Amino acid sequence: MKYSEFHYERISVEEQNELLNERLQRFNDVKSVDEQITVIKEVDESYRKYASYASIANLNFNRDVRDEEAKAEKEYYDSIGPNMAEIGNRWEKAVDASPFKSELRREWGDTFLKQIEMGLKTFDPKIMDMLRQETDFKQEYSELLAGAKIEFDGASYNLTGLGPFHQHKDRAVRKRSYAAKFKWFEENAEAFDDLYDRLVKLRHRMATTLGYENFIELAYLRMGRSDYGPKEVAIYRQQIVESVVPVVQKLLEQKKGILGLDHLYFYDGINFKEGDPKPKGTPDEMVVAAQEMYHELSPDAGEFFDLMVDEELLDLVNREGKMPGGFCTGFPAYKRPYIFSNFNGTDGDVVVLTHEAGHAYQGYASRNQPLISYLWPTAESAEIHSMSMEFLTWPWMEKFFGEETERFKYKHLAGSLVFLPYGACVDHFQHWVFEHPEATPRERKEQWSELESIYLPNRDYDDLAFPKSGGFWQMQKHIYQYPFYYIDYTLAQTCAFQYWIRNEENPEETWGSYHRLCQAGGSLPFTGLIKLAELQSPFEEGCLESIVEKVSAWLDGVDVAKL
Ligand SMILES: [Zn+2]
Repeated sequence: MKYSEFHYERISVEEQNELLNERLQRFNDVKSVDEQITVIKEVDESYRKYASYASIANLNFNRDVRDEEAKAEKEYYDSIGPNMAEIGNRWEKAVDASPFKSELRREWGDTFLKQIEMGLKTFDPKIMDMLRQETDFKQEYSELLAGAKIEFDGASYNLTGLGPFHQHKDRAVRKRSYAAKFKWFEENAEAFDDLYDRLVKLRHRMATTLGYENFIELAYLRMGRSDYGPKEVAIYRQQIVESVVPVVQKLLEQKKGILGLDHLYFYDGINFKEGDPKPKGTPDEMVVAAQEMYHELSPDAGEFFDLMVDEELLDLVNREGKMPGGFCTGFPAYKRPYIFSNFNGTDGDVVVLTHEAGHAYQGYASRNQPLISYLWPTAESAEIHSMSMEFLTWPWMEKFFGEETERFKYKHLAGSLVFLPYGACVDHFQHWVFEHPEATPRERKEQWSELESIYLPNRDYDDLAFPKSGGFWQMQKHIYQYPFYYIDYTLAQTCAFQYWIRNEENPEETWGSYHRLCQAGGSLPFTGLIKLAELQSPFEEGCLESIVEKVSAWLDGVDVAKL
């Protein structure tokens, strides 16, 4: 079946409510676990339909934002979100109160009930209004950013439009474009400070209303982290400071040589003097190359990619009316993933065919998991599939980059390592913020600057006043909109590096482990999944040290003068 033939409809909240009432009655009246299992499967089936229709509505709108009908469908599904969450909450309370919990555990393992338990700990009708307010504040941040009009070299740009100038070959243009951007942030500093202050106090109040000391514990529960806490994350961040920061400093030294500069400023964020490597071939040729690549990688991967092509589950190329960006989504009722992107002729196009395809491969591999909550894992695990696929496809990069392959690989590997300290800095900052909910905006900025000096000791903002006085983090949307979601990227990267190392040594064994990991979906928490895949836990002391040694040896082997 092709995507266009998937059944779609609006589900009705009243009907869902009635269905739930009827099911709850049966669920609570049963005499045996088997009858409860039957009801759980029915509810699961309904969730799969709801998730599939909501995902189709959202995707169709992204495919053409000018389509009024598509917009109305998306808005419909957005609007019923809170009601469906409430229905979900009533159902979860019933499952949590089941007298057959140990039997249910025997059927589906620990994760199902644990997920429900954690979900219930993050919600109470008492915080309903605060949750709505949080959504409004997050929206306020989006609107603030979207409203940016920045004068630059005689024209007016929004933040996205200004982006390419930050990567300009001419250093003076890069600096001026950043100066223009930061000037805008400076002019709006009070709005950004005030909004974050409101968000911090609101989140703190939500946490204390639910009985927590501060927001951190609640945030970990909201992220579905059942198997590690702030203590483990702190150990991990310390490893980044000790093992990664020194290597990054070395790479930055090397970069001076590559760019022919005697000092690196923040605005020298480009990779090569002549610009980044570009993929060869048209988008259609790249899809054919990807299809060949996945067939050579493994029969499972080949079958998966054929399906994506045959069933029209790829919408890759930029066109008018399409929403910017790229993502992977899925339709659990049809057991199919979908990749959406906007090819624009940069190396990012190839990354879509590997990174997003990694997410999609996982969605495909885990399609037969028995419960909808087992289809996708928590965020730090989900990015392992995508970031690792970027590495597992390395042997085929010549198909896409030809003589620029080495440049691509160098940029990819070095960039992945350089990211880790920044990711840890964002995470450390958020822990500090919620441990000190009464701090003033000024104190927050001072703290950010202090953390920058630990994690990013080489960063030199030159005379750009706004970031120099500790404001850089206000550009990081996760801090406002997805609190504590950031360390996830670095944890996943640490696991992806391990696959990169293993793939160099034994590709077959590596693919087997990767496939197992994908198949498991979200049936286990993070530490359970990495155990299954025989990956070393990032929380174990020494984990990063041995990884960094190998990554850095590969980078040392590159003759950068020839790049
Ligand atoms: Zn991703």
